[in-house]
Amino acid sequence: MLALEMVRSVPKALLGRAVGGRVPALLSGVAAPLRLVTLDPPHVDRPGWARLKVRMSGICGSDLGMLAGSTSLYFSALVSLPFVPGHEIVAELVDDCEDLPAGTRVVVDPVLACAARGVDACQACAAGKTNRCSRITVGDISPGLQTGFCHDTGGGWGEVLVAHRSQLHPVPEGLSDEQALLVEPVACAVHTAARADIRPGDRVLVSGAGAVGLLATLALRELTDAGEIVVVAKHVHQQELAREFGASDVVAPAEVLRRVRRATGAFQLEPELSSPYLLGGVDVALDAVGSASSLETCLQATRAGGRVVLSGMPGKADLSAAWFRELELVGTYASSHGERAFPQAIGLVAHDAVARMSKTVAPYPLHRWREALDHAHSAGRLGTVKVAFDPRRTG
Ligand SMILES: [Zn+2]
Repeated sequence: MLALEMVRSVPKALLGRAVGGRVPALLSGVAAPLRLVTLDPPHVDRPGWARLKVRMSGICGSDLGMLAGSTSLYFSALVSLPFVPGHEIVAELVDDCEDLPAGTRVVVDPVLACAARGVDACQACAAGKTNRCSRITVGDISPGLQTGFCHDTGGGWGEVLVAHRSQLHPVPEGLSDEQALLVEPVACAVHTAARADIRPGDRVLVSGAGAVGLLATLALRELTDAGEIVVVAKHVHQQELAREFGASDVVAPAEVLRRVRRATGAFQLEPELSSPYLLGGVDVALDAVGSASSLETCLQATRAGGRVVLSGMPGKADLSAAWFRELELVGTYASSHGERAFPQAIGLVAHDAVARMSKTVAPYPLHRWREALDHAHSAGRLGTVKVAFDPRRTG
């Protein structure tokens, strides 16, 4: 089968770290840690596992970070190389899988927790918090926090992968493949909204209006009693989209503090040789980018005792405000079985705004991976929300 394989070597990773992000061509240039190869289809000969034929698989910000070498080396112990990336997956079953017959169209919950690994449930899994599984490096399959980071399972950026029944959710007839493609990111947004722990009327700031920020805004609007939700968006089309997804107001990055100060009666301070910040501010801020500047914006605009939710893979930031303002820093990673995030997400992708977003999904054949990654890297600027691979395409 044809697949894109991640073969990151240390020198390439370091090269990517040095310049990744500033020179997007490196994502897809000669030093890219990705290659198009012909592989034997993956196979896991254990109960509950089945082969899946990929229909579509998205490119996520975390994939781009990994390819650019900007991902923390923290994660290097949580993957098994080489692997086929791709954890946002719509596929159809090649084999029967317990109660699901061959041919069933499914979306994949990528977390490779205890059930998939064939080990007794850890404390987190037993409580339904599968995204907190502590056994993601042991059991029947190689280390890998998710499908798309594990050597044995394959991933969505290949023609065939294997998945465990515990990961599979059938897709209702009425949903397009493009809508189904958004189920995994929406499930993450459902989890994010729960982690934000919103009280009725809370003022919320969402920093970032890419797929993560837009879908989090939707989940906050639909699933919580948030009051005003202000979204920070760089590009004009993102500003329009953010409103469709439930934003009360949208601001450019440079206007955030002024906007929050006006709404909340906060004081703005101007420290020496550093960025301004507020005393007072929103109740909850959500970093949906993962850059240092986005996280710092959240820290600077949140009231004392408020909550900052880390929804993007975080960069380094000045944490002075977290200490001085006693902020709660809350991580949000993937989603869990216990909260029924995938079934909820399958309901949410029928929402008008998501249905419209799904019509802008840009699918590429595997062999045009360099173009696809460049497109995904520039998606915000180009007005695309989700770029994906469709391994069935040849041109
Ligand atoms: Zn577990």
